[in-house]
Amino acid sequence: MESGRKLIVNGNVVFPDRVSQVSLLVEQGKIKGILEKGMLPQGDCQVIDAGGKMVMAGMVDTHNHMGDPGPYNFREDWYHGSCSAASGGITTICDMPLPSEPATINRDGFMKKKEKAQAESVVDFAFWGGLIPSGIKDMAELHRLGCVGFKGFMCFATEDYPRISDGYLMDGMREAASFGGLIALHAENAEAADLGCKHYSEMGCKDEAKFDEARPWWTEYDAIQRAVLFARAAGARVEICHTTITQGAELLKKAKMEGVAVYVETCPHYLIFDHQILREKKSFAKCTPPFRSRENVEEMWEYVKDGTIDVLGSDHGPFTDEEKVAKKDFWKENCGFGCNDVMLAAMVSEGVHKRGLSWSRLTQLTSANAAKMLGIYPRKGSLMPGADADMIFIDPELLWTYDGSKSFSKTKTVKGPYQGMELRGRVTDTFVRGERVYGDGQIKAGPGYGKFVGREG
Ligand SMILES: [Zn+2]
Repeated sequence: MESGRKLIVNGNVVFPDRVSQVSLLVEQGKIKGILEKGMLPQGDCQVIDAGGKMVMAGMVDTHNHMGDPGPYNFREDWYHGSCSAASGGITTICDMPLPSEPATINRDGFMKKKEKAQAESVVDFAFWGGLIPSGIKDMAELHRLGCVGFKGFMCFATEDYPRISDGYLMDGMREAASFGGLIALHAENAEAADLGCKHYSEMGCKDEAKFDEARPWWTEYDAIQRAVLFARAAGARVEICHTTITQGAELLKKAKMEGVAVYVETCPHYLIFDHQILREKKSFAKCTPPFRSRENVEEMWEYVKDGTIDVLGSDHGPFTDEEKVAKKDFWKENCGFGCNDVMLAAMVSEGVHKRGLSWSRLTQLTSANAAKMLGIYPRKGSLMPGADADMIFIDPELLWTYDGSKSFSKTKTVKGPYQGMELRGRVTDTFVRGERVYGDGQIKAGPGYGKFVGREG
């Protein structure tokens, strides 16, 4: 591994307010200074030539499902999942409380996950605690341990992870508000979404694109408006995860203007794919909330550009090919797929190149806003002096085709939604705390290089 002082030269450095051809001085894993182009610091330092590429703060992925420790780590574990993240430009993984076992719902679950991630991860990591009815008493302790927030499902989740019904949701919000904690919600009306899918299964519907009708926009809208109402009443900070609908984005935009402390996440795949992809990829592209109409997808970009959407999460959560067809009924198959290695390239390709998204807005979405929301800023999500030197190089013009068989993820499927997608722009180098963890198409760091990032303040 490289060590000591480094000077990153010849890059187009992306800040939240500008792109600038400055040099970055790195010392002891932190950004030490920003130098005008051509200036050299006093004393020895290793010069790293970014070759005219974009240099951005490493991504803080707000939404990841590792499934490790526990019986589901055959899908993804901390080593493979973090290598996949590194190859995609993620330098801090924020892992969800499930489907790892034990779930991160109390001290025991937290400590077991921390031990595993510390031993295996090649990038830094933070944890979401759980928001489940029986776990509200443990929230304050998880907050003290450094969890960045608490994830609840307003819809049905898994058999092992109960959903948060309205009464408990209010209890959880009041509890989080008492210590300034953050609540993250999967917002869909549980019964309506569930019954809709049951009906389509019973009808034997063969058109997978109708998933959007089985769990229609208003099931998501209903949960979002309830979450906003409760957040307002409780004075809680709430993040709406993977927002897919323009009606929801519009409501959230208004709520923000009215002063509700609400944050909005979406995933790159909701900005790229519409419900038609389900006809082609079947359950391999199934996720919740569902893919919506093309018109909705295109309109969502306006909320990305105007600042309504605060953060992008990958919702990386692979399943094996066998698992994805195990029920032999599209309406009952598992939801989710792996995508943390392609999310940034997809945003560069579809956002920057095709839809005029600015690089500065992109870095806000992928790092600064996330770090602020999660209470890990400016240590993470920044290239300013004092921040951890988490940096990525992006070749903005590199043309390539996504192939899941080449992924570093443990589940190397070639059936996912991104398979075969032609992309323009690719992460070539990833640095965590000043060390190159990914470059030349290879992982350069060993398992256990990654460190736990606790919420501060
Ligand atoms: Zn998720």
